[in-house]
Amino acid sequence: LGGKLRDSLRKLQTGGQGDVTKAQLQQILNEIARALMEADVSVKLVMTLRDKVQSKVEHLLRNEEDEEVVTRRHSSNLSKTVQRAVVDELVALLSPGGDVKGAKKVYTMKRGKPNVILFLGLQGAGKTTTIAKFANYYQRRGWKTAMVCADTFRAGAFDQLKQNSTKLRVPFYGSYTEADPVIIAEKGVNQFIKERYEIIIVDTSGRHKQEEALFEEMQEIAAAVQPDNCVLVVDATQGQAVYDQALAFHNAVDVGSVIITKLDGHAKGGGALSAVSATQSPIIFLGSGEHFDDLEPFNAQSFVSKLLGFGDIRGLMDAMNSVSDGKSQEELMKKMSRGEFTLRDMYNQFSKVMNLGPMNKLMGMIPGMPDYLMPQGEESTHRLRKFMVMMDSMSNAELDGKVDLRTKYDPQVEKRIRRIAAGSGSHPNEVKMLLVVHKQFEGMVSKMGKSGIVGKNAQARQ
Ligand code: GDP
Ligand code: MG
Repeated sequence: LGGKLRDSLRKLQTGGQGDVTKAQLQQILNEIARALMEADVSVKLVMTLRDKVQSKVEHLLRNEEDEEVVTRRHSSNLSKTVQRAVVDELVALLSPGGDVKGAKKVYTMKRGKPNVILFLGLQGAGKTTTIAKFANYYQRRGWKTAMVCADTFRAGAFDQLKQNSTKLRVPFYGSYTEADPVIIAEKGVNQFIKERYEIIIVDTSGRHKQEEALFEEMQEIAAAVQPDNCVLVVDATQGQAVYDQALAFHNAVDVGSVIITKLDGHAKGGGALSAVSATQSPIIFLGSGEHFDDLEPFNAQSFVSKLLGFGDIRGLMDAMNSVSDGKSQEELMKKMSRGEFTLRDMYNQFSKVMNLGPMNKLMGMIPGMPDYLMPQGEESTHRLRKFMVMMDSMSNAELDGKVDLRTKYDPQVEKRIRRIAAGSGSHPNEVKMLLVVHKQFEGMVSKMGKSGIVGKNAQARQ
């Protein structure tokens, strides 16, 4: 999607030197709409979005002299304005209610009280897996957490949850003999309330399809346990089917939050917008793998950036080209198109960014830039500098990815990390954070390499 959108926007920049007409804007918007549909954003949403973006852009760049011309002077700004408007509207879609008074808010867990959280979703959506991640997330943050298995439909559901419960040391309620999920849910929740658990998570069964029996069961369970929040789990790979699915669940039970799973695969993520739109509920987490740690708190802005394939890698490269010799940059582009991005490459990029200023704008262009590094002015410069000092303490082999720094619990790796920390006056955990950041960059670069956004295609486009 990123590539296509960028192509459309590029046309805006180079197409007409002077006037940009309404017809041209129309054409660009159609292309963007098509690209969004290909990313599984539902047709209805895309149409709404398209109209909103159009009126926003026309409003921003109104031409007083000629109605048919959107803008005369600002043709180079137009692509940025369209891009901005697309991003803003997508973010708004993902933040239901926004600032509107009385709108549904994210449910916040209350300390010292039972928070009963009912998980819903079709079979295979990832409920049971996500519940383990969710329990792990809160338990690690000091919440007294427990799980109840009210899935009597799927053979082995009880064992699956029990296994997770043992690994995570989160207490668990379930039954091999009781066949009524409503009774299990009620007994389990009541027991854990009595034992003063703060977060009581109820796992439910799904079906392969949206069946009446499933929704009736969900209503009965909800009536029995009176959940404080109902979390709908949606599989991102379901694409366009998500809207109807989410709506059906929402009609049965008052969904309050959404979790999107399996975003680590090939899913394009557009289904997330459908789930939010159908339930008018915010996304709280994203699932990005099968392990207990693969759960990220949701951030609309960075989700949209990823959906659209921004970090604006082109903008960043252009800016960097202006300060670096073209040759080394070309080499980097070639490497990146193969998905390669070493710590040394990251070091070089950071140092260029530092020389460029103003930080804020440039940092936003770096793809995959994690939120905690996003510019708060001085502070983020400071953090980058600190990272660079750590990389200064690395050996060539480490910088060039010839030795492993990522394997956990390996005494040799730990030793290296302690050495780097000592050499740079930092804590080993800070070095590990740097490695996490690098991993994120590398993942992004690898994705871009495969998608052809950088490298050959990008060069051919120029
Ligand atoms: P449930 O039927 O809704 O309880 O779904 P499960 O939790 O049993 O998950 C179904 C399958 O999806 C399992 O094989 C999980 O390992 C897998 N799964 C769940 N969440 C994710 C995720 O975020 N990423 C990936 N790759 N797999 C997931
Ligand atoms: Mg399950």
